[in-house]
Amino acid sequence: MSSFHVIIIGAGLCGLSTAYRLQQANIPFLLLEARDRIGGRILTVRNESGTPIEMGATWLGKKHTAINALLKELKIGITEQYLGQQAIYEPLSTSPPQLVQLPPNNDPSYRIAGTTTALIEALAKPLSPASIHLQQVVQAIESKSDGFLVRTQNAVFTGAAIVSTLPPRLLMQTVACTPAWPEPLQSIANQTHTWMGESIKVGFTYPTPFWRAKDLSGTLFSNVGPVGEMYDHSDDDQGYYALKGFLNGAYHSLTKAERCQLVLQQLRKYYGEQADQYTTYEEGVWRQESYTFTDYDQALLPHQNNGHAIFRQPFFGGRFWMGGAETASEFPGYMDGAVRRGEEIAAALIAAIF
Ligand SMILES: Cc1cc2nc3c(=O)[nH]c(=O)nc-3n(C[C@H](O)[C@H](O)[C@H](O)COP(=O)(O)OP(=O)(O)OC[C@H]3O[C@@H](n4cnc5c(N)ncnc54)[C@H](O)[C@@H]3O)c2cc1C
Repeated sequence: MSSFHVIIIGAGLCGLSTAYRLQQANIPFLLLEARDRIGGRILTVRNESGTPIEMGATWLGKKHTAINALLKELKIGITEQYLGQQAIYEPLSTSPPQLVQLPPNNDPSYRIAGTTTALIEALAKPLSPASIHLQQVVQAIESKSDGFLVRTQNAVFTGAAIVSTLPPRLLMQTVACTPAWPEPLQSIANQTHTWMGESIKVGFTYPTPFWRAKDLSGTLFSNVGPVGEMYDHSDDDQGYYALKGFLNGAYHSLTKAERCQLVLQQLRKYYGEQADQYTTYEEGVWRQESYTFTDYDQALLPHQNNGHAIFRQPFFGGRFWMGGAETASEFPGYMDGAVRRGEEIAAALIAAIF
C-alpha cells in the first residue's frame, strides 16, 4: 500500500491535523496549499520587537476537548485570557463610556501558550517538507475510475483519495469538478457560512500596558463601535503588550490607514493620547482573503449549515472527503472542529487502507 497517496487540499489546522495523523500511520500524502504559508485562518503577526498579535483564531475553552487533547499530546500549554476585574462598557452613543465590574468568570477562555501558530508549527514539524507544496492553487479535480487528477495553476497531481479542507462554499465556488459536484452537497455547501469570513481584527502593540491603571481596563465592550469588543492581548512573561479586538465588518472597504484612524479615535475616548503611543497597528480583513472568503449570493446566518451531516459522508465511491472546521459534528467553525474533523477523516482513511 505504500503507493497510496492521499491529496489533502489546504494546510490550515484541519489539513495539518489530517496530515499529522496520516504521517503517524505511515500513509503517504501530499498537502497542497494555495497561500505561501501554512495555517490558513490561523495567522500570528509580530512587530519588530517580536510582540505577537493573532489576526485569526485565538481562544479556546475547556469544553473543546479535541484541541485540548492535541495540545496536551504536543506538550503545548494554554493560558487564561486576562480580563481584569473591570471593563470599559459603552452602551449608547448618547452616554459616556462607563467602567463596570466584571462578574466572576466560571467559563474562562484560554489562549495557546506561545501563540496559536505554535500549534500549526508543532503539527508541521514532523512532516517532510517535500509533502507540503505551497502556492499550489487547486483549480480542478477529476474523478477517474482509479483515483483523481488534481489540477493547480501549474501542475497536475494524481491521488487515490482526496481530503478537501476548504470552507465548503469556497470549494464549490473556486474548484471545478468532473463529474459535477454531487447534489445535494453542492447546494448545501454553497449555503454554508464560512466562519469568521467577514470579520476584521485590529490590534495595536504598545511599549507598556497603560490600560491596567486603576481607572482603566483593556477589556472593552461597545455597542457604539466601530470596535465592538477588545481585549488585553499581552504576554507578560515575554514583556509583550498589545490590545486586540474586532472592528465592525462593514469597514472592509476603507483603507488600512482609514481603519487605523477610526479605531484610534475610539480608543482616545477611553485612554486619551496614550492610545497614540502605539508601536504598530495590525489588522486582518478576512473578506479580502480570496483563499478564505467568497461572497454569498444571499445573506446567510452565522454558522448556517456548519456541521451539516452531509459533509461527513464520503463522495465519489468513498474516496473524496469533505474536511474543514465547518464540516465537524461538534464545534463546527472553531479550531476544535477543525482538529476533530481532521482526526476523524485520518482515522477513516487509515481504517480503509489497512
Ligand atoms: C478572525 C478570525 C478569528 C477566529 N477566532 C477563533 C477563535 O478565537 N477560536 C476558534 O476556535 N476559532 C476561531 N476562528 C476559526 C478558526 O480559525 C478556524 O476554525 C480554523 O482555523 C479553520 O481551519 P481549517 O483548516 O478548517 O480551515 P482554513 O484555516 O481556512 O484552511 C483552509 C486552507 O485551504 C487553503 N486553500 C484555500 N483555497 C485553496 C485552493 N484552491 N487550493 C489549495 N489550498 C487552498 C487556504 O489557504 C487555507 O490554508 C477564527 C477565524 C478567524 C478568521
